[in-house]
Amino acid sequence: MKFNMVLHVKLSNYGKSDFLIWRHPDGTEEKVCVQGTNAEVAENCIAQVYGLDRVQEVIENKGRYTKENLSLYRSEGTLDMRCFYCSQRRVNWGPTPPRQVTKKTKDDFERIRPKTLRIGKNTEPGHPYYRESLLCLMALCAEYETQAIITTKMLEFDGRLLEIVKETDSVIQYSFGSDQLESGAVSQGFTNLWRLEQAIRYQEAGAHTTSIIVCDLAQSIDQNIALGFPLEEIIEAERKYGITKRLLPLRINSDKLSMIITGKPLRDIVAPTQYGNEMQEGFDFEVQEIPRPYGRRGNNETYIREVHPDFQEMIDDGTGICGRIGDLEYCDKCDLEGDTRVIFPVDEIVKVEYEKDNKRRRRAPKEQTKLRFTYPEEKNPEVS
Ligand code: SF4
Repeated sequence: MKFNMVLHVKLSNYGKSDFLIWRHPDGTEEKVCVQGTNAEVAENCIAQVYGLDRVQEVIENKGRYTKENLSLYRSEGTLDMRCFYCSQRRVNWGPTPPRQVTKKTKDDFERIRPKTLRIGKNTEPGHPYYRESLLCLMALCAEYETQAIITTKMLEFDGRLLEIVKETDSVIQYSFGSDQLESGAVSQGFTNLWRLEQAIRYQEAGAHTTSIIVCDLAQSIDQNIALGFPLEEIIEAERKYGITKRLLPLRINSDKLSMIITGKPLRDIVAPTQYGNEMQEGFDFEVQEIPRPYGRRGNNETYIREVHPDFQEMIDDGTGICGRIGDLEYCDKCDLEGDTRVIFPVDEIVKVEYEKDNKRRRRAPKEQTKLRFTYPEEKNPEVS
């Protein structure tokens, strides 16, 4: 028996804000990140689809390839063309039909009443295939006075969306990388320079628009430009049109990506982990002196230990950044709170424990969860 399941847009109130909690020396806690609630308008990410013909096939086939072509694309090795550095590789692959805004979605708004809503944490929401769902979701944002953060690589200028973005005081966050790392998106025409053109149109029409640059902060601006990151154009767009640029350190988590970006395998760029006074087993002490600009944190992800002076200068001049550099965590509130910048030591982040049975995260220890924090500036000297 076949069921026609409706894919609802669900609001998930697990977000980065559940992980990024700063415990101040006096024991009070601050949820630093504004991203507490997420929603996806796509079942999976359409950036995996290579080229416009295949997009057409997917749209005509309820978000799937035809059976014959599925095998063909698999044998060609072109089934999955998502961005190389995608942080959601484990979860956003497969059929890509739109999710529908339904009564259940509205019930979620009623229950959660989110102040902000991030749309597109795991999947691309700006593709025309999802436009109706996106517009319906934004209508709920307007009804519940929710500010949306729409993260996109594929959103073309659309007057209907423009109006509701302005009405809800939301932000369109264009994501920029290098065309060579984003085969799916680029093969569909959504190149980095195309994105910048759309961003300029939204900004010129009065929508809050930002450009978030996902690049290698350990290398110079010129080195990043040589790798295809359109930094010059983005810097110019900020100067000329006021599109706020922001930085997101590129996560280099595979040898393939490491070779493309640094010309070296991962083991040669990541510093060994130190356990107390003991160095990681198998580490070759003779090559200890090779500069290793990356480290590995508890969840096995890499982070930048030292930022290149070009980017340090940008940060010192006020450019916002999201993520870890060395022993510090940075947050610019996704540009929703003006010039607010928060910087604090990573060892002051409250640890999150995982339940072993179903791997769902929960906030613990319990005594920490009782504390509530409301941004008193005198206790928060790093906020400027
Ligand atoms: S900049 Fe801050 S608010 Fe935005 S995603 Fe990063 S941590 Fe969250």
